[in-house]
Amino acid sequence: MLIGAHMSIGKGLSKAIEAALNIHSTTMQIFTRNPRGGKAKKIEIKDMEDSRRLIIENNFGPWVAHAPYTINLCSAKPDIREFGINTIIEDFTRMKTMGARFLVIHSGSHGGQGQVRGEELMVESLNRLLPHCPDNMFLLIELMAGQGTELGGSLEQVQRIMDKVEDNKKLGVCLDTCHLFAAGYDVRRWDNFWHELSNMIDKNKVKVLHLNDSKFPLGSKKDRHSSIGQGEIGVEGFKEILLHPSIQNMPIILETPNDLAGWGEEIKMIRNWWKEAGIID
Ligand SMILES: [Zn+2]
Repeated sequence: MLIGAHMSIGKGLSKAIEAALNIHSTTMQIFTRNPRGGKAKKIEIKDMEDSRRLIIENNFGPWVAHAPYTINLCSAKPDIREFGINTIIEDFTRMKTMGARFLVIHSGSHGGQGQVRGEELMVESLNRLLPHCPDNMFLLIELMAGQGTELGGSLEQVQRIMDKVEDNKKLGVCLDTCHLFAAGYDVRRWDNFWHELSNMIDKNKVKVLHLNDSKFPLGSKKDRHSSIGQGEIGVEGFKEILLHPSIQNMPIILETPNDLAGWGEEIKMIRNWWKEAGIID
């Protein structure tokens, strides 16, 4: 099973992998650069060599990169869209060098232009980006809570965007249990939810799961993460999700409000559920 947390690469990629291994992770997520904007860190050859060795020795990954929050591919302002497109194209190359399999992006906000125009701009931006996506890598649209003028708050919309893109073979979906719950999908009944999902989108497009409990109730449209079992989804809800066959092969990433030790505890708890269910030894 692939489970890990969102790690810092402040001290380099190999240090992030080391820290992930120390809390018994088999995958992780990192930001491609400062999430609130800013320049990308230089890639050090020694760090890449150390990382590659750790990945091979420990059979680590596949792992996930997350684009900065400042990217908005459906903004009304052309320069903001342009900045987003260029940043992602640059990050494709950087993440290929680093060895990431998935790059997660947010759909952005239409900022008052309306969902229809937002979708059009999103498709236009994706059509320019996707030809640059390296082999062995996928660009994933994250499903959002649907706050304000945010795009990507429904499965139907994400599927519509994927359908309209010229070539979507490199495009996929990242689910977030907290975002889904806030958007009104009752993930506590995961089997029902997965059935519903399969009717709306191509389930093979779902590549990564962000695992977060939700501070606010079902359909609140508010994206506030809680630790696993301590929010509205709860322990029983997470067992429904984590023991379901649908998620068994995808990277599961904790973005809960924790430090390394806290994520270590969550991973231990989840591994125990899998052991009890006979999913792992
Ligand atoms: Zn995200």
